Amino acid sequence: MQVSELIKNGDKTLQQIGEKIVAGERITPAEGVLLFEKGSLSYLGMLANYVREKLHGNKTYFNRNFHIEPTNVCVFSCAFCAYSRLYAHREEGWELSTEQMMDIIRGYDNKPITEVHIVGGVHPKLNLAFFIDLMKQIKAHRPSLHIKGYTAVELDYMFRKAKVSAEEGMKLLHEAGLDSLPGGGAEIFHPDIRQQICADKVDADGWLNIHRTAHMMGMHSNATMLYGHIEKFEHRIDHMERLRQLQDETGGFNTFIPLKFRNKDNDMSHVPESSVTEDMRLYAVARLYLDNFPHLKAYWPMLGRQNAQLTLSFGVNDLDGTIDDTTKIYSMAGSEEQTPAMSTAQLVTLIKQVKRQPVERDTLYNEIRDYSNVEVKDIDVDPSLN
Ligand code: SF4
Repeated sequence: MQVSELIKNGDKTLQQIGEKIVAGERITPAEGVLLFEKGSLSYLGMLANYVREKLHGNKTYFNRNFHIEPTNVCVFSCAFCAYSRLYAHREEGWELSTEQMMDIIRGYDNKPITEVHIVGGVHPKLNLAFFIDLMKQIKAHRPSLHIKGYTAVELDYMFRKAKVSAEEGMKLLHEAGLDSLPGGGAEIFHPDIRQQICADKVDADGWLNIHRTAHMMGMHSNATMLYGHIEKFEHRIDHMERLRQLQDETGGFNTFIPLKFRNKDNDMSHVPESSVTEDMRLYAVARLYLDNFPHLKAYWPMLGRQNAQLTLSFGVNDLDGTIDDTTKIYSMAGSEEQTPAMSTAQLVTLIKQVKRQPVERDTLYNEIRDYSNVEVKDIDVDPSLN
């Protein structure tokens, strides 16, 4: 059946939105909200899958990475955060020294890892100079390792404390070895919600300015959105609209990563979590709204493996990486994945089970290896594959 047949809908407004999407036209914020309000799971999924396959066919990307979380001590108190500990209670948390972090890096010597992802709490004593030194040491040890590090929240605090502008601070980190930025700390940009869930950290304009600054220096970055708590559909679209505008301006974003709110052990434990259906609808609308973002990622440690697999039919074309049990952010918030690690063979299997094409990428989406014709049993025995 032609897609023009599939987009026929009893609701004329939904059909018009579907026609725009198939014609490659941009949808408006009001149309984005309407998709959330009225779009059935199947209609949204069909449209999102159409866009996903137009952009990427069956390709589903993953990478081989690990995380370093320097500390969970944090000057902020975001209501949804189960991970951080205030400085006054730092004995309940952790603070890694440079040497401890370099030991982690050295632990991956001779392993075909392409990326280290460094994010953590905003520690009042771990300053810009400390992290510049860490960047230099990592690059001196393994120059080819891509360093994706520091949320805009961490950077904003680091730069303010060092009394440097975003441009100066970013230049110093970039020259020391920082290659790109992750997308964390965005949460929900709209002040009505931001005030309630993370009032004291950098606001929307500050977050966007840090990413704009990185993009202007030729660095790429990702963007997240924490969804499924107290925000309304309008707030989600407002969030994505701000990202879409910045992407029009700079083109520096690679990937949008929706992050599902989890309610264990935080100050929002009374707020129910979103259903899997609502998760899939969100992924689909994100794929349709962010027409200038090349990639949409499902972060499997937060969603769980089977749900991550499901997202591949709702616009997602990237499943992040092997991770190697090196993050605690979502396990502490109640995710089913308490020790998140997947071997390459497991990731490839997950992707092949839903008849997609597993492709290993680097951080910037250069393709490293297509696993379509690689047998999973060979991945287990060949160290270069695993
Ligand atoms: S979400 Fe980040 S900034 Fe907020 S309290 Fe947790 S670690 Fe700190």
